[in-house]
Amino acid sequence: MIIAPKIRGFICTTAHPEGCAKHVAEQIAVVKSRGLIENGPKKVLVIGSSTGYGLSSRIAAAFGANAATIGVFFERPGEADRTATAGWYNTRAFELEAAAAGLYARSFNGDAFSYAVKAEVIAAVKADFGQVDLVIYSLASPRRTDPKTGEVYKSVLKPIGETYTNKNLNTTTGVVNEVSIEPAEGDDIEQTVAVMGGQDWELWTDALLEAGVLADGVQTVAYSYIGPEVTWPVYKNGTIGRAKEDLERVQRALDAKLAPLHGKAWVSVNKALVTQASSAIPVVPLYISLLYKAMKAEGTHEDCIEQMDRLLRDRLYNGNPQPDEAGRIRIDDWEMAPALQALLDERWKLVNTENFAELGDFEGYQSSFLRLFGFGLSGVDYSADSDPSVGIPSLAS
Ligand code: NAD
Repeated sequence: MIIAPKIRGFICTTAHPEGCAKHVAEQIAVVKSRGLIENGPKKVLVIGSSTGYGLSSRIAAAFGANAATIGVFFERPGEADRTATAGWYNTRAFELEAAAAGLYARSFNGDAFSYAVKAEVIAAVKADFGQVDLVIYSLASPRRTDPKTGEVYKSVLKPIGETYTNKNLNTTTGVVNEVSIEPAEGDDIEQTVAVMGGQDWELWTDALLEAGVLADGVQTVAYSYIGPEVTWPVYKNGTIGRAKEDLERVQRALDAKLAPLHGKAWVSVNKALVTQASSAIPVVPLYISLLYKAMKAEGTHEDCIEQMDRLLRDRLYNGNPQPDEAGRIRIDDWEMAPALQALLDERWKLVNTENFAELGDFEGYQSSFLRLFGFGLSGVDYSADSDPSVGIPSLAS
């Protein structure tokens, strides 16, 4: 089948197997060009390993440190006439590249929030690794089923207390308009915290601890975002921000639980980047477009892979993680540099549909978005026939 992008709002409902493979190969090349991560992780579990930050974490660990990896994700396989989700093809490509490099890689497709998937993955860790020395927690999901009660929690992206109105980008047309988001109501905050907070990270860590599969000196990391004040009402001070506060609460609890193993839990604050999760947040895509333009101009732009390489190479495994006053790792440091933020603040006030092409990187935003689904990569023949039903080697039974 000939596969083309089909964009519906902020999602693309198709994905390209060869394009996703090229995207993965390009990320591997970035990591390899930077050389071996000295004393890096050896046996790594990545929860949410198929797209975005989790995929790049897996690639950085495997191809930067020759780590064996187990990945967990929730993706849809393809059929003869329907493409898989991008994370499926990404994982297939990752496994094929890992095998070619002689690296162990095994994957699990299922609901990471469930007890069943945790048990299955932990059995594999025990059998194949004995113990893991790094656990990355990189889930982003709109909902979570409570494994105990069966209740389904839904995460919302809303301000708290009052309606928030700000500039917004129509990512299809490039029109800069305004959006108003009504404040959280009812149990919106609790529901969002139950999905995107730290509860499930803690359940995973408890289960791994109980099974005795965490190595001495283990590190575990979950990802957060802070960003500039213009986005605070919908991010840092909104429902999702409450969930990220909960992540920090759990980080402190996990630190205590891991202390007997000389282990450490971290929250890493990452840069705003185009991913499937971030493109759904109002206001943020306009900010990202301005950010990309300015960071590309000053030569500091990074994508997920450069961020994750820096996290492992310059923070987690160089003996100098440089935590901030709250104990968080800050690889959003270049994004949050005061001079850059002052420039972005100025541009935010000025930006409108007419000057957006000049102030923002719309082309960069759109191409980054398409690349998430394997479209627009150089060297891929998009007019060629492609088999959408290809499998993931470790999932083939
Ligand atoms: P993403 O949508 O690209 O990745 C989400 C991953 O979670 C995928 O691998 C998906 O398969 C997996 N997943 C979702 N539900 C699952 C389930 N029930 N069971 C198993 N796997 C499931 O998202 P992302 O942007 O890489 O986000 C990852 C983390 O990074 C989030 O905590 C997010 O808040 C954080 N973060 C993102 C940004 C950004 O700008 N994108 C910035 C800073 C921090």
